[in-house]
Amino acid sequence: MHDIIGVGFGPSNIALAIAIEEHNSSVSAGAALRAVFLERQARFGWHRGMLIDGATMQVSFLKDLVTLRNPSSSFSFLSYLHSRNRLVDFINHKTMFPLRAEFHAYLEWAAGRLSDVVEYGAEVVDLRPVVHNGEIAYIDVISRHGGSSEEIVRRARNVVVAAGLEPRLPDGIQIDERTWHNHELLHRLGQLPAMPRGRFVVLGAGQSAAEVTEHLHTRFPQAEVYSIFARYGFSPADNSGFVNQIFDPVAVDEFYHAPDSVRAMLIGYHRGTNYSAVDMDLIDELYRRTYQEKVQGIRRLHFLRASRVESFERLPDGVRLNIRALSTGEIHVLDTDTVVLATGYHARDPRRVLGGLADSCLTQDDGRLQVRRDYSVETIPGTTANVYVPGASEYAHGISSSLLSNISVRAGEILASIRGRQEMEAPLAGAPAGPEAADALTPQAPPRS
Ligand code: NAP
Repeated sequence: MHDIIGVGFGPSNIALAIAIEEHNSSVSAGAALRAVFLERQARFGWHRGMLIDGATMQVSFLKDLVTLRNPSSSFSFLSYLHSRNRLVDFINHKTMFPLRAEFHAYLEWAAGRLSDVVEYGAEVVDLRPVVHNGEIAYIDVISRHGGSSEEIVRRARNVVVAAGLEPRLPDGIQIDERTWHNHELLHRLGQLPAMPRGRFVVLGAGQSAAEVTEHLHTRFPQAEVYSIFARYGFSPADNSGFVNQIFDPVAVDEFYHAPDSVRAMLIGYHRGTNYSAVDMDLIDELYRRTYQEKVQGIRRLHFLRASRVESFERLPDGVRLNIRALSTGEIHVLDTDTVVLATGYHARDPRRVLGGLADSCLTQDDGRLQVRRDYSVETIPGTTANVYVPGASEYAHGISSSLLSNISVRAGEILASIRGRQEMEAPLAGAPAGPEAADALTPQAPPRS
């Protein structure tokens, strides 16, 4: 029996684990919350495939796992630097944007300090409602471990599903050794097949596409790199002060309570903070390189703008692309050795994890989950167990939903919500809390809708 089971142990649930640990250290042992986090990966990792040399964070280090919620936490990025004896060197560096590799090491350090509450190699395969006294009062979390088919069942009052992002791929694309998404970049480059043409293609015009284009151009000094996108050119990420306020904790309140039309309008206005948007320094660097090649008369870097790939045909030793120039409608054929799909991400749909609990969760007309301000899902009447889905509700909580910007404050809000409900709902009278609980409570056959 747990108070909280977290599904996934990326930055969002690490921030929650820290908030729980800090709460527990401030109360008596009897009042401490029992929490466990289940993570599918065999060890902590956060976008490892994109830890490109020299790539920096796009969000301030102050938006780390804790600082906006608790600036005196020992889990801050500054505490990490201090523990590594690098604080003063970082200050001299005068940047708000550390290397991604360094921020990854920070997250790994924080995750390592929480090893007693996380189980790696644990894939959650189902959530099942459990009825007690006529109410869905608990959730059984079913997981498999280390590839074994044996299932382990844990029971909780609250489940927090923070399952992260997954790649968005062009329709019908076949992923193989020559065509892959950029989140695999470093692993795939470590095992490249033969490159008879010495040519890469990169699709997309976001930060990932720009970073991959620059990396390939640098790392393979003999190779050609074709960057293909529908825009006319890379657009700079807008991180100006006023616009950046869209990521503030208070913006979540405003966004959540706004009418649908206003939410859509705000996302439309401010997409350029995050989507298909590139750091200005990187845009300048790519432009500098292409201009230098023009001067030298040696072209390796090519930009096919206002262009769309209509089809991908696998060749024995490469890929043939049919590319439509959008302004003329003409089709060009380009053979390449490798295609990198820097085509973005979307939040993993939490309904895939909800399993047997899905029928107890309410959805909007468009099929998306009805999510409350505290990130819990609206459920059918007679449900007192709660499932929270932070990170998967941009439509309800705004553009920071899937980003780091707000995770520390959000973790505090989720914890406050769980504690508030526990205080409001008197402890379930006579609810079994020991190992015998599994016999006394009934897993619910969910109603079919
Ligand atoms: P993104 O900003 O969503 O960009 C995806 C790109 O792929 C867009 O240009 C999009 O074009 C294009 N695209 C989508 N579907 C396509 C298709 N079927 N065919 C061709 N092109 C297609 O994704 P991202 O660049 O991966 O960035 C995602 C997030 O990660 C952002 O928050 C970014 O800031 C972050 N990131 C951070 C770093 C860092 O911290 N250093 C590095 C990389 C990424 P349209 O615009 O025309 O739809």
